[in-house]
Amino acid sequence: MADKYVYLFEEGGAGMKNLLGGKGANLAEMTNIGLPVPPGIIITTGACKEFSASGQKFPEGLEEQVKDKIKILESSLGKKFGDKANPLLVSVRSGAPVSMPGMMDTVLNLGLNDITVGALAENTVNERFALDCYRRFITMFGDVVMGIDHSKFERILDRQKLKAQVNFDNQLSGGEWREVIEEYKKLIKRETGDDFPQDPMKQLFMSIYAVFNSWNNDRAVVYRRINKIPDELGTAVNIQAMVFGNMSNDSGTGVAFTRNPSTGEKKLYGEYLINAQGEDVVAGIRTPQPIASLQKEMPVIYSQFEEICRRLENHYRDMQDIEFTVERGKLWILQTRNGKRTAQAAIKVAVDMVNEGLITREEAVLRIEPAQLDHLLHRRIDPEARLNIVARGLPASPGAASGMVVFDADLAEKLGQEGKKLVLVRTETTPDDIHGILYAQGILTSRGGMTSHAAVVARGMGKPCVCGCEALQIDYDKNELKVGNLVIKQGDIISIDGSTGNVITGTVPMIDPGLSAEFQQLLEWADQIRSLGVRANADNPEDAAKARGFGAAGIGLTRTEHMFMAQDRLPVVQEMILSGTLREREEAVNKLLPMQRDDFYGILKAMDGLPVTIRLLDPPLHEFLPDAEELMVEITRLKLTGGDKTEIREREELLRKVRSLSEHNPMLGHRGCRLGLTFPEIYAMQARAIFQATARLVEEGLNPIPEVEIPLVIEVKELAYLRELVDRVASEVKKDSGIDFHYTVGTMIEIPRAALLADEVALEADFFSFGTNDLTQTTLGFSRDDAEGKFMRAYLDQKILADNPFMVLDRKGVGKLMKMAVELGRRTKPDLLIGICGEHGGEPSSIEFCHSIGLDFVSCSPFRVPIARLAAAQTKVRSDRSARQDYSTL
Ligand code: PEP
Ligand code: MG
Repeated sequence: MADKYVYLFEEGGAGMKNLLGGKGANLAEMTNIGLPVPPGIIITTGACKEFSASGQKFPEGLEEQVKDKIKILESSLGKKFGDKANPLLVSVRSGAPVSMPGMMDTVLNLGLNDITVGALAENTVNERFALDCYRRFITMFGDVVMGIDHSKFERILDRQKLKAQVNFDNQLSGGEWREVIEEYKKLIKRETGDDFPQDPMKQLFMSIYAVFNSWNNDRAVVYRRINKIPDELGTAVNIQAMVFGNMSNDSGTGVAFTRNPSTGEKKLYGEYLINAQGEDVVAGIRTPQPIASLQKEMPVIYSQFEEICRRLENHYRDMQDIEFTVERGKLWILQTRNGKRTAQAAIKVAVDMVNEGLITREEAVLRIEPAQLDHLLHRRIDPEARLNIVARGLPASPGAASGMVVFDADLAEKLGQEGKKLVLVRTETTPDDIHGILYAQGILTSRGGMTSHAAVVARGMGKPCVCGCEALQIDYDKNELKVGNLVIKQGDIISIDGSTGNVITGTVPMIDPGLSAEFQQLLEWADQIRSLGVRANADNPEDAAKARGFGAAGIGLTRTEHMFMAQDRLPVVQEMILSGTLREREEAVNKLLPMQRDDFYGILKAMDGLPVTIRLLDPPLHEFLPDAEELMVEITRLKLTGGDKTEIREREELLRKVRSLSEHNPMLGHRGCRLGLTFPEIYAMQARAIFQATARLVEEGLNPIPEVEIPLVIEVKELAYLRELVDRVASEVKKDSGIDFHYTVGTMIEIPRAALLADEVALEADFFSFGTNDLTQTTLGFSRDDAEGKFMRAYLDQKILADNPFMVLDRKGVGKLMKMAVELGRRTKPDLLIGICGEHGGEPSSIEFCHSIGLDFVSCSPFRVPIARLAAAQTKVRSDRSARQDYSTL
């Protein structure tokens, strides 16, 4: 027996979305709960799939099944396709399992022909109306099914209006419409060589064919790619008896949300048009009325509609987006679906629905898309604003910033201190630019990806950033940048939108962020549910305090190198690096000690009672030195202008040192714990600073919990060696201060070898923290600073990788190493504390993975802490549910 391809509405239900599409499943559901839905049938997505797979052939049995079901429809309505007295007219609409608004095709008024149009005229006693319906049908059918450009129909209509000397369609007489219809038919014959089909059944099958085909039209394909909707789903086809909102003045059509989709307020929100068909509302030919005035215009209909809205919300337990039509004073519901909403509305609706007893707290937590929250946590561009967008880069750190263009970090710092608003624009940033970044409202780079320095630092600071905007040609010599023909000079005002990647000329109106009461409430529920801890990555006391305010339970990563970049530190750090002897180096290191002690004191105090992971120095040392090319230019200039000989010699000496430190592949070079091995005095100083700060806080009666972290470990012996150094310094500080304190020592797992040997590494580690930025870089062999700007696009376009692995954790590769490291590490130490502090720690799907492999916490930038809290709770609810399901099927 052939598969069942066609369902009556009565045979379906809301749970059948994959088979019947979202629209069809909901029409079936509404029919079955007794709402006034015009009757109809649904062709399954399975039929569409077979159609596509077989080279656009209807599957066997489909045509008979459609005809059989149409017969049932005809007898239930007492109407017949092509009937002279009582013709059946239907709409044909696509409806995929996932809503794809406007992407595929619709045909209305199908069943009209030269005969049935007469019947419609008689039955409605309105010839003009019938002819209007007919010409709309021919236009839609000609366009959607026969592939004739819509504008060609428009031109005929315009000519007729000119001839009749009228401005609006509805001023044309019946006779004039008849002429238009004849012209339309001639157009179709001319364009396709075929007559406009008069047989309704033929019209129907041609339309079904077109709807199936529209699944693969360009718009739909692109929409699916952007929204990550699988191509295999296919679309259903809904064939439904027509009701007419344009039949009379007691008819009309409209769309309404059961709550305000922008604010979440519990109040009907929508609009309608009297005496109009659905497409008139969308086409904007007449201005629709707000739904509230329907209460005055059609009070009975309004209260019926309100009641139906209430029923649908209670039934679906979510805000609904409903289409309705009134035909001669009778209300019909044509569609309902869960309404799309802003983040703000999503939160308010979810919290309100818990308070109304409609949904549980777990469901409320699941209702919010964590990524959407980004928009609520940053200043953002007023969505109503008109923007002059000149380029687009990667949306690296959300939020929007406006200010004058500044190309130099020193100047940025100076102007920033004067209170000027600015956007720091660089080809890429290095830790050298940190002081400029600190004072900038936003950062824009022409190179580098989502985990480039600029992106990581900006996200950490909660500053908007657009990076890898390759259309920008930055000329530091001229202090200007070019985008195509446009030249932007230093001091010109631009804006960037870190949520979209847009670069905009001039200022833009902005809206402030804020944690609403409902948002706080939702996060509290999330905290009660989740088991995964959430910490923050923070490098200074202000960020630590901010993170605590957002609900972080400690710090998962303090990058100490950022402290070395402050203006008062950098010369001492350079002295330390450039010193020729151990003695000189120790002197410089000793100057840094009190400064670092203050840093750690501030951070540990802000996080009193909560753990703080402090990573010892990680980046290659040359990052703290001036750029070799810039030095060379300076030396040449000094020589040409007869500059001071000693100064020239000093610069040359510096250049030699910079060159000797430069590496072909610095990310795989002299960095991380390798620095600790070659310059143990630096690590010793940092450990001393941490412990002295700790001792002081203990003395003050506080409860500091430092966790000393060694980066880039590949071998347990490295860790053992450095751990001994840290332990020795700790004993010294305890002895000198006479104060006892607690601390732990652990390591980053960010090189595959450390993951592979995690059982050994765990012997010397109190904790592991996955540095997934480096682990991704080293596992894939993709340079984190270059991949996104150079070749990542090709990997995503060719679908070789589903997601950018620097943003969404590569579970298959990097994840496999992580899972192995967790198992091996805990085999050695069952209670080993394990977290993640790479950028993935704030990304919902990566958080889900971290939960699944049993991590204790994720750590992310302070602004992503609320997102991580919510994502961790969602993961918990989902995994508990699937565990329950597994159990029930045993
Ligand atoms: C990492 O590698 O994931 C990490 C957190 O360290 P960084 O980004 O500073 O290299
Ligand atoms: Mg790292």
